[in-house]
Amino acid sequence: MTSDWFEWEAAPKADFAVLGDPIGHSRSPKMHQAWLDATNGGQRYVAIRVPLDALEQALDRLSDLGYIGVNLTLPLKGRAAELSQSLDPIAARLGAVNTLRFSDRYGLNTDAPGFAKTLQPLSLSPGARVLLLGAGGAARGVAYALSELGVRLDVWNRNLERAETMVAELAIEATVSAQPEWSAYGLIVNATSGATGVNLPIDWRQVQPTTIAYDLMYGAPTPFLVQARERGLQTVDGLDMLVEQGALAMEFWTHRQVDRSVMLKAALS
Ligand code: NAP
Repeated sequence: MTSDWFEWEAAPKADFAVLGDPIGHSRSPKMHQAWLDATNGGQRYVAIRVPLDALEQALDRLSDLGYIGVNLTLPLKGRAAELSQSLDPIAARLGAVNTLRFSDRYGLNTDAPGFAKTLQPLSLSPGARVLLLGAGGAARGVAYALSELGVRLDVWNRNLERAETMVAELAIEATVSAQPEWSAYGLIVNATSGATGVNLPIDWRQVQPTTIAYDLMYGAPTPFLVQARERGLQTVDGLDMLVEQGALAMEFWTHRQVDRSVMLKAALS
C-alpha cells in the first residue's frame, strides 16, 4: 500500500472508491474528494486495487464496511456488469458498469452519457461524419453515444475483426473501415490506449483543418493530439469526459447537483 491507494484486503472505512488494477494513476479520488470536501459532509472517496478474479469478494467486503458505491475501471467493468443485480439500459447494452450502488447492487454506465455531454459544445450536426479509432471498452461507450446522436459513424481499429464484433454486438449503424476517408470527417475520436508513444496510421495531410480531434486520454498530450495541433485542428482531451462521468456517478449516489468546476480544478491539480 502507498499513501494514495489500498489493496482491497486492507480497504479502509470510507464511503466511495474507485476500483481497478492498476489504480495508482487514477485522478478520481482527488476529483471526487474535492467535491465531497466542498459539501462539508465528511465523506471519503479512496482508490483500491482489485484484481479481476477478486472483484466479487472485494465488493462483499466493501459492502460490509458500509461503502455507498464504487466506480470501476480497467479491467473490471465487464465483470461488474455480471455481478450487478440489475442494470441501467446503457450498462446492459454495453455489458459494462463503471458505477455501482451497494444498497441494491444497481450497475450504471456513465461513460457513454459523460462522453455525449462533452460533445454538446462542439455543435455536431446529426448528419456529421465521425471516425472512431479503437474498439476496446471505452470505444464501445463512445460508439453507442455517437450512434444515439445520429451521426454517420466509421470505425477503424488495428484489429478490424474486433471492430466488426463491436458494431455487431452493439447493433449500431456504423461502417468498419481499414482505410478511412481521412478528408471526410467533422470529428475524429481516438479511443485507442497504446500509451503516449503510439503513432496511429493517420494521413494528416488529408484531414481537413476544420476537423475536430478528440482523444479520450488525458494527462500528457498524445502523438494524436500533437499531430492534430500541428495540422491546425481544434483538439479536445479526455479530461472533460473524466469529470462528466464522475459527476454523473456522484449525482446518482448522492442525488445532489455536482459542481463540475470543483472536480475539474482538482483533476488538473
Ligand atoms: P482497451 O479496452 O484496452 O482497448 C484498447 C484499444 O486500443 C483497442 O482498440 C486496441 O486495439 C487499441 N490499441 C492498443 N495499443 C495499440 C497500438 N499500439 N496501436 C493501435 N491501437 C492500439 O482500453 P479502453 O478501456 O478502451 O481505453 C482506451 C483509452 O481510453 C485509454 O487511453 C483510457 O485511458 C481512455 N479512457 C478515458 C476515459 C475518460 O473518462 N477520459 C474513460 C475510459 C477510457 P486492438 O483491438 O487492435 O488491440
